[in-house]
Amino acid sequence: MNVQKRIEDWYLENRRDLPWRRDRDPYQIWISETMLQQTTVTAVIPYYERFLEKFPTLYDLANAKIEDVLRLWAGLGYYSRARNLHEAAKILAKQKSFPRTYSELIKLPGFGPYTARAVSSLAFSEPVGVLDGNVIRVLTRLHSLRWQWWRPQMRSQLQRLVDQFIAPGPVNILNQALMELGSQVCTSKNPKCRQCPLAKDCLAQKNSLWSVLPLKKPRKAVEIWQWTAMIEMRDGQVRLTKNEAPFLHGHWLLPGLAKKLKKAPKNFDFRHRITHHDIYATVQQLARPDRQKSRSQKDKASRWVSIQDLDAVSPYSLMRKAWMSQAKLNRISGKAPLRVVMFAWFITTILTALLLMFAGCQSIKVAPIAAKPSRPAEKVGTYTLLTQQGVNRTPRLSPNGNRLLYVSSKRRSHRNPQLYELNLKTGVENRLTFQDGEIFDGVFNRTGRRIIYSSSTDEIKENPVYLIEAIDQFNNGGEPLSPEEIQSDDLADPKNFWGAKLPPTDIYESMIDGSHLLRFTRTDSFDGEISANPQSNEIAFVAYQNNRLVLYRMNLRTRRINKLSPIPSSIATVHSADEWPRFSPDGRKLVWVHEIGPKKTAIWIANADGSDSRRLIGGNAIYWTPTWLSKNNEILFSSNRSDPSIFELYVVKTDGSCLRQITRNSKLHKFFRMWQAEIDPKEEHIYFTSDVSGTDQIYKWTLSKRIQSIINHPCPPAASPTKAPTAAATAACTPPASCVPSKAK
Ligand code: SF4
Repeated sequence: MNVQKRIEDWYLENRRDLPWRRDRDPYQIWISETMLQQTTVTAVIPYYERFLEKFPTLYDLANAKIEDVLRLWAGLGYYSRARNLHEAAKILAKQKSFPRTYSELIKLPGFGPYTARAVSSLAFSEPVGVLDGNVIRVLTRLHSLRWQWWRPQMRSQLQRLVDQFIAPGPVNILNQALMELGSQVCTSKNPKCRQCPLAKDCLAQKNSLWSVLPLKKPRKAVEIWQWTAMIEMRDGQVRLTKNEAPFLHGHWLLPGLAKKLKKAPKNFDFRHRITHHDIYATVQQLARPDRQKSRSQKDKASRWVSIQDLDAVSPYSLMRKAWMSQAKLNRISGKAPLRVVMFAWFITTILTALLLMFAGCQSIKVAPIAAKPSRPAEKVGTYTLLTQQGVNRTPRLSPNGNRLLYVSSKRRSHRNPQLYELNLKTGVENRLTFQDGEIFDGVFNRTGRRIIYSSSTDEIKENPVYLIEAIDQFNNGGEPLSPEEIQSDDLADPKNFWGAKLPPTDIYESMIDGSHLLRFTRTDSFDGEISANPQSNEIAFVAYQNNRLVLYRMNLRTRRINKLSPIPSSIATVHSADEWPRFSPDGRKLVWVHEIGPKKTAIWIANADGSDSRRLIGGNAIYWTPTWLSKNNEILFSSNRSDPSIFELYVVKTDGSCLRQITRNSKLHKFFRMWQAEIDPKEEHIYFTSDVSGTDQIYKWTLSKRIQSIINHPCPPAASPTKAPTAAATAACTPPASCVPSKAK
């Protein structure tokens, strides 16, 4: 068997199922190959799927606004690729058919030798070789070539080699096989020569030269740049100019001066690296925009952009950092022009709401930002609306408190809610899931690099490739399970566990960029609430069984499941349900809400393995959203225990002692109807869901200093393990006014 046949057979058996490989559409191949330049497959997949969802055809892309294209490109970098895609699409849309040859394609904007060859060969089988970094690695090792492959002359030689290699055909398969081999087997470090179909012929392998081939390309010397940017605002708009500095050249950025330096400056606001440009940035805000000067700068290609459109017009990390560095210092949001606009908008909305109310309107939208109770009895802090479109639920913080996961229907009119991630520092939001069904809940794992979520989708059922890959990855290089092994798992049969009463909902895990998708359960029925143990590979989740919501624990590594709900059968009535599980920060305990009946809940606590379960507090009122404080032995929760119409916040120790009411007459739930609350690790903010503005939205509550001090106020340890505090403990618990004996049984 010749070398081409061997690599072809290997590829057909081992190729990854990538979305752009499913057919030979030239538009899809072009988009994927453009995205894959300088970017990994893993990172590209979610971007590619999002792009194709928004622009399914060449004509959709040609008719789109460049701002929309850039918005979908944000995060992939090298934005000239997106601009060229758009330009080329406009040209191609006017042509009768998609060009089929390298020589036609190379004339289009953004089509370099690599992209033109990839499209003509993969889509139309033109016999031209595709030369990328992976192919260069395979060829230089196969023939043991100590070439300076980055030089034009050597690249031409390599191009000839690859052209010869694929000439016997099928060219589209051989080109993809070479690239796949370089990416999966002939890797830069530790190539898997034993699995390689070229091993018999490989000179580098015979002479143990793989570690020195291909030769290392000398790096470009790092250049130090100082960038002084100016924020100039007018009527809620910001001025941008076409950048003339060598980094992000020709892109819309804040007007600024760039200067090349020999040494790094001492004073700067932030540092940012773009290729070999090490940028030290300082950002200043112009107190009073000089209209005369602004007008005179029109000839330097400047434009005014509203704050809402800023990210679409200038989606670059450098720009975001510049903007955020000022926002942090309150030098933007606190300045008069924007504040005046926001205040006017706030007043107008309130007046409109009042008018509608007097007119007998049924649904009143309350101003979403900085909404305040009508009769605030106490200052509990400030509220900020974080989401604004669609229905948004289940805010869940990353372990470091910097990122927020949540489920949102966005613009899809409440259907198909998906999982989103909001970077709380930069304000940048990413969509993480692209599934057919509905996502119910999603949480970060203990490292913050993976997400575990529950979804009703069934879309990967037909495609176990992801599953096997993910298991392989998950087990740290362990043997992957075969599809048969996965199918034969007990979980495949819903009868083994619970009766299907709700739409089938499964639990998935993936990396934060959506790659390595792994499904843990199959066609089971879940409610879908999840809590990840911060210290181990286990989750607690809620499932629907025999008309009850029951709590389970699953080890993600072994997929072993244990039932946790330990409620004695005497009170496990048809109405009872267990919800809202939360692991303690040390991973040893678990609290959850046990719903006994209408308007009656209790908070239960147990060891993480389900042992030693007991009722912590509750019974004749609603006890809701138990959240662990960082101390491991205190729980924050809300309850209407003192007045059925008012929910207040409380803190209690896990032994039931030192119950503290931390808000008083705050009308928390009456006005804000707060639920699904998470407190950040510094215990300064609570993120919660509320429908006060008409639909479920997510709010950030910055706790007042007084509330923070009560939360952080230490209580003495309980004198005995009894659930009610002793008189001495209660007396010692300060501040005395906020400590009341627990009613826990
Ligand atoms: Fe690369 Fe090893 Fe295969 Fe040679 S035998 S091409 S070094 S993986």
